[in-house]
Amino acid sequence: MALLTLNNVEVVYDRVFLAVKGVSIEVPERGLVALLGANGAGKSTILKSISGLLKPERGEVSRGEVSFAGEDILALDPPDRVRRGIAHVLEGRRVFGHLTPEENLIAAASMHRDRGHVTALIDKVFGMFPRLKQRAKAKAGYLSGGEQQMLAIGRALMTEPKLLMLDEPSLGLAPFLVDEIFDIVRSINADSGVAVLLVEQNAAAALDIAEQAYLIENGRILMGGAAEVLSSNPDVAEAYLGGN
Ligand code: ATP
Repeated sequence: MALLTLNNVEVVYDRVFLAVKGVSIEVPERGLVALLGANGAGKSTILKSISGLLKPERGEVSRGEVSFAGEDILALDPPDRVRRGIAHVLEGRRVFGHLTPEENLIAAASMHRDRGHVTALIDKVFGMFPRLKQRAKAKAGYLSGGEQQMLAIGRALMTEPKLLMLDEPSLGLAPFLVDEIFDIVRSINADSGVAVLLVEQNAAAALDIAEQAYLIENGRILMGGAAEVLSSNPDVAEAYLGGN
């Protein structure tokens, strides 16, 4: 059984604008799946329909089926989805700039009552991101873009997700940092068994670590399948991989 299944999902903004037009995707247990596509294709909106971050009071509505671990979650609010095991790292690395990395991690772990457990999770995150440990005393606002991205991922891991959704983790980062972040994402998936749904415009880097990928265009799935099949498709190479 898939961990996450979207079946014919539509998302409307402003009551009338159909941004996602009947998308069906699956993320297997422990899978690593990428959503690729240009700016405005609807990738971030798909993630919001999964984490529940749409705002119905502003006319933002998701329809269709979103099921997680066999349960239809579309009616659940975002904290309930986090408790089910869904973590969403938004685009733009939102960390608390006035708090240290450790304080950021503690703030993300409010669901855990057991302090010893929180400390063990912090140690685990610092083990994955040694750079964060080195900057333990700095305010997060003074960390580099790459370090803030690491902290944003670390915060998500404090909720002990079954599914980690990452929105454009490579955005604005130097190439060596992109490699470092993608290596860490790969090891979170491989070593901890956390399934990953990765939204990326850097299709080459994403296809390198993903098992499956979907190409989103104008709110629809244009193509989906094994990452190596998409990488070797000439149309994908031409449009998304710089013609290589
Ligand atoms: P990006 O990488 O730029 O975030 P994306 O593929 O993630 O691109 P979305 O952000 O999901 O695309 O946007 C899909 C469409 O929905 C776009 O046409 C966008 O303008 C529109 N859209 C996104 N957010 C809103 C919103 N809050 N209100 C109205 N329209 C929106």
